[in-house]
Amino acid sequence: MSFANGRRYLAIPGPSVMPDRVLAAMHRAAPNIYQGELVEMTRGIIADLCRVANSSGHVAIYMSNGHGAWEAANANMFSRGDRALVAATGHFGHGWAESARQMGIAVDVVDFGRSTALDANRIAEALEGDRRHEIRAVLMTHVDTASTVRNDVAAVRAALDAVGHPALLAVDAIASLGCDPFHFDECGVDVMISASQKGLMVPPGLGFVWFSQKALEASRSSNLVTPYWDWKPRASATEFYRHFGGTAPTHHLYGLRESLTMILDEGLERVWARHKVLAQAVWAAFDVWGGAGNIALNVRDPQMRSHAVTAARIGDGGATRLRAWLEEYAGVTLGIGLGMAQPTEPTYDDFLRVAHMGHVNAHMTLGTLATMEAGMQALGIPHGNGALDAAAGIIAEAAKATGEA
Ligand SMILES: *Cc1c(COP(=O)(O)O)cnc(C)c1O
Repeated sequence: MSFANGRRYLAIPGPSVMPDRVLAAMHRAAPNIYQGELVEMTRGIIADLCRVANSSGHVAIYMSNGHGAWEAANANMFSRGDRALVAATGHFGHGWAESARQMGIAVDVVDFGRSTALDANRIAEALEGDRRHEIRAVLMTHVDTASTVRNDVAAVRAALDAVGHPALLAVDAIASLGCDPFHFDECGVDVMISASQKGLMVPPGLGFVWFSQKALEASRSSNLVTPYWDWKPRASATEFYRHFGGTAPTHHLYGLRESLTMILDEGLERVWARHKVLAQAVWAAFDVWGGAGNIALNVRDPQMRSHAVTAARIGDGGATRLRAWLEEYAGVTLGIGLGMAQPTEPTYDDFLRVAHMGHVNAHMTLGTLATMEAGMQALGIPHGNGALDAAAGIIAEAAKATGEA
């Protein structure tokens, strides 16, 4: 007997839940790609993409996933043989570094492990060692979706300023945009990337690169760029076809229009607050479970945790067994423990991730936690009692505090 029938919930950190409004907006006949509604609508999309990033700069929309956005940013920022400094706090930091390396960029990685945020002092030291200012850009991940570490963007900006280094600051905000507060202008970000299928709640297929005027100027001398990835014509295009380097991603744009409207109607601050409270509910449950079991959140310090996704360890292979149980009996799919251990390591099955990203509300998160509790009971995974009370309490208190209860 299974209890999985009903609406399934993919609680992984991307693709995230696609709102019915987004899917309905995409359900339409092919539009004119040269003039009319789509062209007008895209002007508003570009403005609103800058609003959600708190950016007064430019944004280029590519038909790609996040890996494509990495390459787009690399191609515009660097020339062959240029140096990059990468701050890695998990799987995705190393991924961006590898993509740059394979493009012919000389990459120095400062590795902060898989459970703590970057230390901006170490970035400052590395920059100070670069007396001839050969490092062209510092690449960092805002939220590493695998370790679920969240990094302080402003602190890295301050490190660059403190040592007077002219490198560009480039941020991977694929997992955080629309979930965790992000301030492109205020934090002096030069380049920021994201993708459609996470906090933006649109099917996978769009990659975005925001860039400052300084980054645009710097890119004029880059020699790695190829025609499709070049952000210059996209920034200045008056012709719609050129903005997309060819045919526009028509239906994704309609979906994105709807998702941006949903985010801005709710209000960015409220969207961020909702993610924070749902994250805190998940953390509270894990803290209780861990009180009497081999269970722990991956990131100890709450200040260093993502508000969009939470990685945790459930020892003795419990994480993998629990994921399988949830999928089969409860209709909930949790994320795998990406990059936390190699498939050959004995701890490979000890990690999982719970997403609370995008179109997610209290009943979805509390429901996920309750089915996890049921799975732990069914599988005999030792755990502390009272996790659901703790999680519900977080939601109740937050609602009371906002005066909306
Ligand atoms: C998801 C993600 C990526 C990769 O995106 P894809 O769309 O899977 O290529 C890169 N960086 C971060 C931080 C991500 O969350």
